[in-house]
Amino acid sequence: MSYTLVIHGGAGNITTAIMDAQMELDYANGLRAALDAGTQLLQQGGSAVDAVVAAIAEMENNPIFNAGRGSVFTKKGLNEMDAALMDGIDLSAGAVAGVRNIKNPIRLAREVMLHSGHVFLSNEGAAEFALKQGIEMAPDEYFFNKSRYDQWVEIRDTDYTQLDHKGDNLKGAIPNTGHKFGTVGAVACDQNGNIAAGTSTGGMTNKRFNRIGDSPVIGAGTYANNKTCAISCTGHGELFMRAVAAYDVSCLMEYKGLSLKDACAVVVKEKLVKMGGEGGMIAVNAAGEYEFCFNSAGMYRGMRNSEGKEIVGFYGM
Ligand code: ASP
Repeated sequence: MSYTLVIHGGAGNITTAIMDAQMELDYANGLRAALDAGTQLLQQGGSAVDAVVAAIAEMENNPIFNAGRGSVFTKKGLNEMDAALMDGIDLSAGAVAGVRNIKNPIRLAREVMLHSGHVFLSNEGAAEFALKQGIEMAPDEYFFNKSRYDQWVEIRDTDYTQLDHKGDNLKGAIPNTGHKFGTVGAVACDQNGNIAAGTSTGGMTNKRFNRIGDSPVIGAGTYANNKTCAISCTGHGELFMRAVAAYDVSCLMEYKGLSLKDACAVVVKEKLVKMGGEGGMIAVNAAGEYEFCFNSAGMYRGMRNSEGKEIVGFYGM
């Protein structure tokens, strides 16, 4: 029986000009560790949902990614994280927004999906639920990351927000001053042909207090339906929300009969480009076909499947 796991670590202005050999190694290792964590489960017959959570948690624990431990700072100098998880079997979903001091927001999203009776919890309500579910917490110091902090200090007295994957064409953002990439996501197809999607992020540097991006919004940054596809997005969240990007791919497949590849291309390379939405997405379907699609210079990405094929890449294709 076959399985496929596809992951991303953020899309944006990722070129050889900003990457050095050490960074290439760090990102490749980070992506491979996430592929290991997820495929180990898939190989043993584990579910797509569990594989997605395992792969994302691995990247949340790695400070090079803008999620969990490596989350960027808000305008108030805090880390506020968003995450979502969706199961393609029955369209069940769980999401959290604006959570703080949660070691793995994707695990909290799974608790919301399975045990809250709701789909989306935010801020104090999400924190209270985390406590009740025994979710692992971490102190502020755990999330402190010097380079992310310096990025924030540079712009904290301005009204600018900075996308973690800054490209020069983004409205309201300042010129790129560092290597700020890293929202994470995973989509998987398990041995039973079930698919799932998850996304986790610290959002944008200097984002407004309680700003929520596309990542935890079901249909915008995250979506999964066994009938069509599982999608995790990364990019300029406001535009991905307005485009309802992830669900649009599913709709193009369901109602217009487009292939996975063509549906992703329409949304990422046509629709989002017209709107000025920089970024990309990863996708998989129940047949195990997969897709990486982005309109930015690069996207940290990886794929491993039961045929022994592995892809790890950063730059434009
Ligand atoms: N989409 C995320 C957000 O807007 C950021 C990213 O993907 O880097 O919060």
